[in-house]
Amino acid sequence: MTSPATHSYISPAHILRVALDVPLDRLFDYLDGGFSVDIGQRVVVPFGPRKQVGVVVAKSNTSDFPIEKLKPIISAFSDETPLDYETFALLKFCADYYQYPYGQALLSALPVRLRQTKPAVSRKQYLYSLTDAGKVQTIDNLPARKLLQRRVFSALPEHGALDEIALSEVSAGWRKPLQGFIEAGWVQAQQVLAGIKKSSFSAVPAPELNAEQTQAVQAITAQVQGFKPWLLHGITGSGKTEVYMQILQSILANNTGQALVLVPEINLTPQLESRFRSRLPNFPLVSLHSNLSESERLQNWRLAQSGAARIVIGTRLSVFAPLPDIRVIIVDEEHDGSYKQQDGMRYHARDVALVRAHRRKIPIILGSATPALETWHNAQTNKYGHLTLNERAVSKAQLPLIRCIDTTRTEMHDGLSPALVTAMKERLARGEQSLLFINRRGYSPVLLCSACHWIAPCMRCSSRLVVHLRQGRLRCHHCGHEQKIVRQCPSCGNADLHPTGHGTQRLEETLAKLMPEARILRVDRDSTRRKHALTDMLASVHADEVDILVGTQMLAKGHDFPNLTLVGVIDTDSALFSPDFRAAERLFAQLMQVAGRAGRADKPGEVLIQTSFPEHNLFNALREQDYAAYAQSLLQEREMTQFPPYAYMALLRAEANQFSPVQQFLTDASELARTLTEEVMIYHPLRPQMEKLKGMERGQLLMQATQRNAMQNLLRQLVPQLREHPLANKIRWAVDVDPLEF
Ligand code: ADP
Ligand code: ZN
Ligand code: ZN
Repeated sequence: MTSPATHSYISPAHILRVALDVPLDRLFDYLDGGFSVDIGQRVVVPFGPRKQVGVVVAKSNTSDFPIEKLKPIISAFSDETPLDYETFALLKFCADYYQYPYGQALLSALPVRLRQTKPAVSRKQYLYSLTDAGKVQTIDNLPARKLLQRRVFSALPEHGALDEIALSEVSAGWRKPLQGFIEAGWVQAQQVLAGIKKSSFSAVPAPELNAEQTQAVQAITAQVQGFKPWLLHGITGSGKTEVYMQILQSILANNTGQALVLVPEINLTPQLESRFRSRLPNFPLVSLHSNLSESERLQNWRLAQSGAARIVIGTRLSVFAPLPDIRVIIVDEEHDGSYKQQDGMRYHARDVALVRAHRRKIPIILGSATPALETWHNAQTNKYGHLTLNERAVSKAQLPLIRCIDTTRTEMHDGLSPALVTAMKERLARGEQSLLFINRRGYSPVLLCSACHWIAPCMRCSSRLVVHLRQGRLRCHHCGHEQKIVRQCPSCGNADLHPTGHGTQRLEETLAKLMPEARILRVDRDSTRRKHALTDMLASVHADEVDILVGTQMLAKGHDFPNLTLVGVIDTDSALFSPDFRAAERLFAQLMQVAGRAGRADKPGEVLIQTSFPEHNLFNALREQDYAAYAQSLLQEREMTQFPPYAYMALLRAEANQFSPVQQFLTDASELARTLTEEVMIYHPLRPQMEKLKGMERGQLLMQATQRNAMQNLLRQLVPQLREHPLANKIRWAVDVDPLEF
């Protein structure tokens, strides 16, 4: 792309600056073509041979391009509410911070229906009721043969109304007869806001808060003017959600204000939604997540935009939902990795929420049992207010007993220790449920000596070398150091060195063989792909139709199983010594969460963890449920090694069919970067653990700075130059700012 001319062209015509969903980091100028268009309006424009939908982000009467070359827009969607300035500005900030083209960032934050070149219609919903004229009619006024008409008519209540769902239960063919009644003046249709369900609940009374909860609510509601971040640290079941609800009650009380509640998992929205609805029936609530139909999503988004929805509960992307009167943001399970977008604009929704709260000068509450170390650090250094809930809210729910099973001292069968199998059989006999938790994330094999527990270290970093079996090599994923796999333990001479971590695929089959009478349910991404699959599965657990649950971290989050008294944890050691410096933090969070599943009601729970490192300080902290102590030790490590939160990282990721252009691109990038800065450490390009993914050869370049600004300054210069690199369009590459995974 040539750089624009130095002078500008003045035009009497209105020039529109339009953001388009194209991978170029610039706006595009168009003539308004006689349409009256506002900033924030959607327009359709010619773009090359195609039509594109765009958003007008500015108007001007000058352009950097010759006026006669500008094309007029094709049409404007003038009857839509324009996008507000706050949403623009937030997305502009994110596009800059995460090094992503602004137009793409902006357009991809909109519901799909708003990215199409046709008018965006969301389904309208109606309530149907009898008019005065209709009320005096009787069914005998209808022809005896018109059965359908008679059926629909007699279903209409004398007082009150029916919605479309109720009518379709009367008959699938209800529309036609009803239309006839409307034309006859017997029935009236009243449009309702779809998505905002009429509350059929009577408000559930709030429990009386305990002292810690009361203190949390009071502290937060005492400072609702101005930016104020809070960490609400409390174990699962300590009553954080109750605190959220009382805060919303208080902040939204005067019939003004909107609230945004972020949740990490789509699967968590329905239960939270119904809890909020029944407790806060006076505040219209919508949810925003990708399990909604496009029509529902658009509708809910518009309800947020119009201010009609007072509470929005949503996943990651809803952090960009337009909320003109937003007064508070809540981020539940703020440590959760699914807040980080892993493609496109790689934003972190919690961090964006913090930026949003800061710009709007409102409070934001980050809730977690195991805060991210970044958040914990900010709370410890008083950048955030720090509130703690130490006790489970329901007193009879006891903390589970946590024990480690030393897998080096027991004979394992297909990955299961006899002690764990016995414990499961006991539960089966008592009619209680067990959960086997498989930690599949952070699986990177390291070379381990079974005799002395030596693990192949990197000589130049404080990290472990990763086994690349096929190449017979050990590699450091931080500095790129590489060596041959050693055959003998340099520490004790033992020749039995092996990569840790073994397959878990056959676990379900093994269990079925060991306990043929047990009803086993596997819950993971694959088995829950269908729309309501997880809800159905959870219902069958609640109905006691399941004896043993086998699952990944999906199961660990926020589900209450009163009859579940045993949690077995299968595969932890690979994460204990993963080369990913965040793996231990993640494992601790997951184990805390999964331990919270056991014994929530009146039955005490037990957690059995299989590991060859029962003395590891992670397990000691876990047994004591002492997050603070473990966080402290991790933070010390991070400070020594200069990892986040003591440093800021960015990763340039690249991939292609062949490795050589990737290598070339990353090498050039690293050399260029070194000429641009002395404040940012530029490592050597190297290959990630997954060297090849979906047929693509991958590489990455790590950059690390002690100041956020130094990193941002570098990226601001580096990325535009990389876009001009001869290989830039031949390989796939992206910048991941504040990456979570390596
Ligand atoms: P968290 O969000 O921290 O996991 P919840 O708010 O879901 O905790 O509370 C766990 C359980 O305890 C819920 O059933 C909730 O209704 C109940 N609960 C919370 N606070 C109180 C309280 N002060 N008195 C009685 N029950 C409470
Ligand atoms: Zn050894
Ligand atoms: Zn190294």
